[in-house]
Amino acid sequence: MTREATIRRDIAALGTSFFERRLTFGRTGNISARIGDRMLLTPTGASLALLDPDALSVLHAMTGAHLDGPRPSKEAFLHAAMYRAREGAAAVVHTHSTYSVAVSCLADVDPGDALPPLTAYYVMRVGRLPLLPYHAPGDDSLGHLAEATARDSHALLLSNHGPVVAGQDLAAAADALEELEETARLFLLLRNEATRPLTPEQAADLRRRTPGAPVGARA
Ligand SMILES: [Zn+2]
Repeated sequence: MTREATIRRDIAALGTSFFERRLTFGRTGNISARIGDRMLLTPTGASLALLDPDALSVLHAMTGAHLDGPRPSKEAFLHAAMYRAREGAAAVVHTHSTYSVAVSCLADVDPGDALPPLTAYYVMRVGRLPLLPYHAPGDDSLGHLAEATARDSHALLLSNHGPVVAGQDLAAAADALEELEETARLFLLLRNEATRPLTPEQAADLRRRTPGAPVGARA
């Protein structure tokens, strides 16, 4: 099996896995993987549960221009923005996962970092989570903002919408998105409890120990 065929199969398998675990639903969410200067992306109107590895959209990874295959997700511009911002990124996942979206709708979240460092794995896999302001679907100005913000963070939370996460491969991007979703759930469970997140010193220590940042930002 060629590398591209393996990646196509992995995108379809990840889509099914997300759908079966309710990380995505309906025809929401999109997954991409970068191969050189191209990306494979889930098509528009596709259920992630029923992806055909041979029917993925092919786009220019940096411009988001459609090159081949079915019409791409309307959120392709978000994927291109992440690849432009992060040189080491080879995969991007975006979902409307329930608990992450719930946090993105809260009025009193810190836009610089939407979730506290509740656990070590959250700090190591997600780190900081900037919250971007609401944009209507298809508003391209979100792409510019996402690109600028993603230079310093591989995970973004779109207000009243959901998370976008880049990784060095599909597994890393998925791991980080899942960690984000579970931490959002923990945060909501603990919202009315006196909570003791990791201290800034503990979080900084974990960042130092994590071999390399999750994905290197573009210089
Ligand atoms: Zn979306």
